[in-house]
Amino acid sequence: MPEKSSSNFDIFLLLSENDEKAKKKQRKELLVSLGVQEFFPEGSISVDKRTCWGLECKLCINACPTNALYWKAGEVGIVDALCVYCGACVLSCMVDDCIKVERKREDGTIERFSKPRDVVKLADKINAKKRLKRVSELFPTVERYLEKYKSPK
Ligand code: SF4
Ligand code: SF4
Repeated sequence: MPEKSSSNFDIFLLLSENDEKAKKKQRKELLVSLGVQEFFPEGSISVDKRTCWGLECKLCINACPTNALYWKAGEVGIVDALCVYCGACVLSCMVDDCIKVERKREDGTIERFSKPRDVVKLADKINAKKRLKRVSELFPTVERYLEKYKSPK
């Protein structure tokens, strides 16, 4: 039986890793040139061609802030490298589940939306969190208050 050599390595894995790195680099360069900041390290987007209204609609193409969507030979095309997973296209699409966006936050949280109400709900949740943070800063807890203002013994 042939022995395993320590110099064995997976050439396909190496190629796909290099490919991934090149894609990330290209994406970064494209977004920087557009003055767009990247907020989500990973994500994906798809358009269901069976339910899309296509030429009669194009609302998503007009809504996309980075021109990641375009009209391509009778269907909506996607330039993956330009998509920042903002969800503006989902918000503007009148067909539920036609556009699907999935994105990963820096802390690992996965967010998915495919309907305008998903985007609105998420925005509300984020705003509620920010509001709560501001309120807690304005109105500290009893412990924090005492810690800050207790008189010296
Ligand atoms: S998620 Fe945002 S950036 Fe991506 S295609 Fe939709 S509108 Fe454009
Ligand atoms: S907004 Fe929705 S239905 Fe309209 S073109 Fe885009 S994907 Fe199709």
